[in-house]
Amino acid sequence: MLKNLTLQERDTAVNWHPYTQMKTTGDAIPIVKGKGVYLFDEEGKSFIDAVSSWWVTLHGHANPYIAQRVFEQLNTLEQVIFAGFTHEPAIQLSENLLKLLPENQEKVFYSDNGSTAVEVALKMCIQFWHNQGNGKKKILAFKNAYHGDTFGAMSVSGRSVWTKPFGEMLFEVIFIDTPTAENLESLKNQIRNIADEVACFIYEPLVQGAAGMLMHDPDYLSALMKLCKELHILLIQDEVFTGFGRTGKLFAANYLSEKPDIMCFSKGLTGGTMPMGITTSSNEIFEAFLSDDKYKTLFHGHSFTANPLACTAALASMELLLKEETLTQINLISEKHLQFSKILKQQSQVENVRQIGTILAWDFKTETGTSYFNDIGKRLYEEFLKRGIIMRPLGNVIYLVPPYCITSEELDFIYRNILEVLNQFKV
Ligand SMILES: *Cc1c(COP(=O)(O)O)cnc(C)c1O
Repeated sequence: MLKNLTLQERDTAVNWHPYTQMKTTGDAIPIVKGKGVYLFDEEGKSFIDAVSSWWVTLHGHANPYIAQRVFEQLNTLEQVIFAGFTHEPAIQLSENLLKLLPENQEKVFYSDNGSTAVEVALKMCIQFWHNQGNGKKKILAFKNAYHGDTFGAMSVSGRSVWTKPFGEMLFEVIFIDTPTAENLESLKNQIRNIADEVACFIYEPLVQGAAGMLMHDPDYLSALMKLCKELHILLIQDEVFTGFGRTGKLFAANYLSEKPDIMCFSKGLTGGTMPMGITTSSNEIFEAFLSDDKYKTLFHGHSFTANPLACTAALASMELLLKEETLTQINLISEKHLQFSKILKQQSQVENVRQIGTILAWDFKTETGTSYFNDIGKRLYEEFLKRGIIMRPLGNVIYLVPPYCITSEELDFIYRNILEVLNQFKV
C-alpha cells in the first residue's frame, strides 16, 4: 500500500513533529544515515550538523565506539527494573560522573530526559522542606528560563507563547533578572525580601540556551548562589545544556565558586545517542529522605530508570569526552569561535556577539526585534540548508553548537557560509 510513497509522504501521513506548525511548515527532510558531523539524506546529500541535533551530539553521529559498547550491553542486559535491583553500568556511571562534579554531589537519581531531570530536582527540593515539616513552596527562577516541557519544568520556565495555553495551570514562580554589575545589589535585596518562603532557586548556569543563548557572568551568578545558601534557599543547577564540555570546561560548575545542592543533566550525557536524564544531589538533600517513616520516601520513578543501554552509552561517551584529543578539540573550537566572533562584530547586520567555549551566538539585526517567531530565522534556516548546513536560528538569534569532532576546515566552511549568508540578507 505504501510502496510508492516517499519517506517524506509517509512521514507527513503519520508523524506529528515537535515545535512544528504542521500546517505551514514544509515536509521534514528524511535522514538515512549519520557519520561524524554529517547527516545524509536519501540522495546522499550531506548536511553539517552545526547544532548537534538540538544540542545533544558530542562525538559525532553513529560514533563507532559508543555503538560497539551499546551493542555489547544490548547482548548482555538490555533493561532491568531499578527498584530493588541494580547493575554495573549504573553503578559505574554514577561513580564516574560524581568524580567530575563539585565534591558535595554524592547521589545520582536516574530518569529519561532533561525535563524529567528537572521534575525530579523540583520534587527533591519541595519534599526536602516538607519532610522537615517546613511548608516552603515558592520557587525562584530567571526570566526567560527554559527547563523543559513537562508541567513542572514549564512552570519554572519563562512564560511565553509556548506556555500560554497552560498559563493558569502552571504553579507560581518568582522570576528574577539574570545578574549584571548594575542589578546585582537590587537582585540580592529582592531575594532577601522573599527568602522565608522560597524553597529553591533553579537556573541555567552561564547560558540560557532556548532563550537565545543569553549569557551571564559566572561571578555574579556565584554571588547570587552564595546569598541563596546563606538564606537557606536550595540551588538547582540545570546543566542539561551546559554540561559535558559545551562551555569549554567540563561543566558550567567549573566556572562557579559556589556549589549547587542539586544538578540536572541530559542532552550530552550519552553523547547524544540515547535519551537519559540524571539528577544529582548532595548528601544533605538525600538524608532528608532517610526515615523509618515511609512517607518521607521520594516517590518518583520511570519505567526505564537507569536503563543499562543508556548508562553504557553515557559511560562510553564520557570516556571519549575525557580523552586528550577531545579536550584539545573543545579548545580548538572555542579558540576558532573567538577569532570568528571578532569578524562577526565587524558585520553591520550583526549585534550582541557572545561566546563561551563551543557556543557562539549573535543577533541578526532586524526591525521587529528578537522573537522566536521572527520570520528571518526561517529564511536563514532555509538558506543554510541549501548550503548543506543545519542551523536552527531561535528567531533572529543565530548560533553554533557543533559536535566536538568537527574539524578546523569544517568550521571554516561554516564560517565562510555564514558571512556569505549575512551579506545576502543585508538590508
Ligand atoms: C533542553 C533543556 C531541557 C529539557 O530537556 P529535554 O530532554 O528536552 O526534556 C532542560 N533544561 C535545559 C537547560 C535545556 O536546555
